[in-house]
Amino acid sequence: MEQLATAARPLRIAIIGTGPAGLYAAEALLKKRDTVLTVDIFDRFPTPFGLVRDGVAPDHPSIKAVVRVFDKVLADPRVRFFGNVTYGVDIHHEELKHFYDQIIYAVGAQTDRRMGIPGEESPNSLPATAFVGWYNGHPFYHDLPIDLSCERAVVVGNGNVAMDVTRMLVMSPDALMKTDIAAHALKKLRESKIREVVILGRRGAAQASFTNPEIKELGKLEAVDVIVDPQDLELDPNSRATVGENRVAAVNLEYLRAYAAPREHSAPRRITMRFRASPVEIVSVGGQVTAMKIERNELVVAPDGALVGKGTGKFERIEAGLVLRSIGYRSVPIEGVPFDRTTSTMSNSAGRIVHPATGETVPGEYVVGWAKRGPTGLIGNNKPDAAATVEAMLADLPTLQGISDEYRDLAQIQTFLQGRNIDYVTYQDWKQLDRYEVARGDEQGCPRVKVTTTSEMMTIIHQGREDSPVGVMVMALGTPTWPDDIAAYYAHMRGGHPPSPALLSELQRRYAAIDGRSPLLEHTQAQTRGLQAALDQAAPGRFRVTLGMQHSRPFIEDSLAELVESGVQQVVGLVLAPHYSRLSVGVYSQRLKAANTPSLPLSMIEHWHLAPGYLAFLATSLQATLEKMIRTRGVDADKIEVLFTAHSLPMRILALNDPYPEQVRETAEAVASRLGLQRWAIAWQSAGRTTEPWIGPALLDVLAELPSRAVRVWSSAQQVSCLTISKYCMTSTSKRGRALSGWGWLLSVPPCPMTIPAFSRPWQVLYEAT
Ligand code: NAP
Repeated sequence: MEQLATAARPLRIAIIGTGPAGLYAAEALLKKRDTVLTVDIFDRFPTPFGLVRDGVAPDHPSIKAVVRVFDKVLADPRVRFFGNVTYGVDIHHEELKHFYDQIIYAVGAQTDRRMGIPGEESPNSLPATAFVGWYNGHPFYHDLPIDLSCERAVVVGNGNVAMDVTRMLVMSPDALMKTDIAAHALKKLRESKIREVVILGRRGAAQASFTNPEIKELGKLEAVDVIVDPQDLELDPNSRATVGENRVAAVNLEYLRAYAAPREHSAPRRITMRFRASPVEIVSVGGQVTAMKIERNELVVAPDGALVGKGTGKFERIEAGLVLRSIGYRSVPIEGVPFDRTTSTMSNSAGRIVHPATGETVPGEYVVGWAKRGPTGLIGNNKPDAAATVEAMLADLPTLQGISDEYRDLAQIQTFLQGRNIDYVTYQDWKQLDRYEVARGDEQGCPRVKVTTTSEMMTIIHQGREDSPVGVMVMALGTPTWPDDIAAYYAHMRGGHPPSPALLSELQRRYAAIDGRSPLLEHTQAQTRGLQAALDQAAPGRFRVTLGMQHSRPFIEDSLAELVESGVQQVVGLVLAPHYSRLSVGVYSQRLKAANTPSLPLSMIEHWHLAPGYLAFLATSLQATLEKMIRTRGVDADKIEVLFTAHSLPMRILALNDPYPEQVRETAEAVASRLGLQRWAIAWQSAGRTTEPWIGPALLDVLAELPSRAVRVWSSAQQVSCLTISKYCMTSTSKRGRALSGWGWLLSVPPCPMTIPAFSRPWQVLYEAT
């Protein structure tokens, strides 16, 4: 078997979660230039970026600037975003394993820790994680029942999240107005009656988890006093030792001492920082939080050597109407992945998922970020952490079995999700929503106005898909335009094998017989232009039609990339062949799907053999020809046999229930019935020179048997070029020459006039399909 991560067997990777950990992992993978891979990155929301969007405080835009790096990752052609897809619901663990050689779980820490004290579940006693989600427009917390009508709130915890939520509670709404805070939160914060936030640290000031910029920032808030009791800053010998070794703690203390210095406190709002105090009960009256009971702590050395707070039996009561517990996030188990309940992380060894009981590695499954190491660290810490997991992934490649190659086709996952009616969101969809939010922000003088419910996000995305141009990929086989192109063209057609010198010279001789160049490209270009013109007339600006060839330039992949670049949000594929066969239209369809790396919604018009415009065109042309034969050539009408011909295909398609022969028959029958033809038949031509049998009867055999004159109707849209070649072929051998002699032979249609009428119906189908 070919080696993984090579052009022959590109590595297929899925990442669950588009937060910093997932995106840094994707970035690290993309940097491995000699590793051929693709990355599909899933998120349960239509929006990417995880906590950068939903967690970072709105007044910290510089931290959010990292999305520029993440956006580049998502825009990489090797990466596809599948938003609005929930792991464990829309796609299950075992299903995902079919499609991907390696899976990275980057699901973060989705819930909060509990204090485990009475009254914790009272209304208005909330996890800070929910409050953070609420002001950041996280869809889950849109309707958070938070009441800001009290004068004092208590924030439990001494980490950076405690700092964030405190700032949000006391900041001026006018300052918040210039941020990307959720509109519903800003409205409520404007009406807030909160005047004081008490921050409660269970240990001392030297043990606080917040970092220097965050504690410094509190002192910079406008119209806010920061109050610290100097007695709380008196350090016991153990804490003094800690500060000596910990620069962050030492600087924190400097800021806290500055806040504790005597001064007049006259600002309309205040932050009071309390240390060495634990919450013991939340008191409610009539279902409303009214106070928190706290116990003063002393610091003692625990058996593991850590300094911990121990209750002194001295209690206090803080009157407060809102409690936010900001005591850390917590990971939760997800489907199919072993979870270590003692550390609340996914069981892993240096990022490799392991069975907790045996320590044995689960092949191809990895973890990054908070789900790997616990909920600590800044956004930037995820970068080296993700890079380390990526190194483990690459080190594992030589022993990795990988998925079955039938699942390596990039279109498989899209087909799977579509089959499940999952309305997945692509990168282009997200960009549409992004533009929408930024445009609303421009109107209001802020970076963006966030859309805060999934349903509204999807409405905007759907609207965007409808409003933005639809790409139409007209596909054809391609052709060598000049004799010099012949060798390359045939080599491409035969999977890279160049034609033998004998075959090449035979092909060159044939092209010489048709003046050295095939008119196919011009005809298909004319058909493409005709379709664009027809669509522009019907729906100005709605469609962008382009041509993509299978074996010559412009190739399907290049044309699709151009369509995507031009901003189309969905693509319709239309092959210049009216009848479906898995060996013809099916091949184009697969090729287009595989090229669709940005995973735009894609629909194929698989056949148009009964399109009224096409049938009308065939009937009109045939009628005109019949009349010409009868009138100008004096042929007896009863003696005319009409042969409907089509390109033959190998007989094996019959065993596969391929609809091709049946569809050819349906076209012929429809035209014959329109014209009331009595004498007609189907004949097949251009059978390949292979050992396997092809569908018959062959045209030349039928002609040889015919006692009367014949009109031939070629039922392919690309007839002109093929006919030119086949006409040459037929007159070039004595058998064929004999077969033709004496027959009233007809080229049924000229190229361009057929374009518009023949496509009028496909266009309608096209229009309806989108
Ligand atoms: P954190 O830094 O772990 O802080 C949790 C705090 O809760 C600690 O002070 C802890 O005290 C306290 N705590 C835990 N259990 C408690 C209990 N039962 N009763 C009272 N207090 C309790 O967590 P976080 O604030 O959620 O932040 C998570 C991570 O995100 C951190 O790495 C943080 O730096 C990062 N973050 C960064 C930013 C930023 O860069 N601006 C913003 C937000 C978050 P003990 O120390 O005594 O356990």
